[in-house]
Amino acid sequence: MITRVRHIGIAVSDLDEAIKLYRNVLGLELEDNREIKEMKMRVALFSTGGETQIELIQPTDNETALAKFIEKRGEGIHHIALEVDDIESALDIVRKKGLFLVDEKPRIGVHGKKIAFIHPKSTRGVLLEFVMK
Ligand code: ZN
Repeated sequence: MITRVRHIGIAVSDLDEAIKLYRNVLGLELEDNREIKEMKMRVALFSTGGETQIELIQPTDNETALAKFIEKRGEGIHHIALEVDDIESALDIVRKKGLFLVDEKPRIGVHGKKIAFIHPKSTRGVLLEFVMK
């Protein structure tokens, strides 16, 4: 059901400074860079030249879960997004196998695809995101 690691999500406190690192220092291609007001975050997406992207996310509001994550744990890897060929059935399968879902049903994510998060308390401490192919 999982077809690839779609992206690695990294929480940052200053997106512009983080973009400098990934674009200017590491030489990755910036594919997308925008604010998503309704999700209270800014997001930048980089191509790595391969099948996995790097997603930088910066909260624009101190009260969001993302802001609290940075406050508690500092900047760093926030989630791993796994691409699935059928998100409804993938959620069904992992739910039946005892994982806790953050999103009971898929919703539209920042890149316009159906996504759903799986709670880190059931995945050995890693927030997993399913992304529809
Ligand atoms: Zn993501």
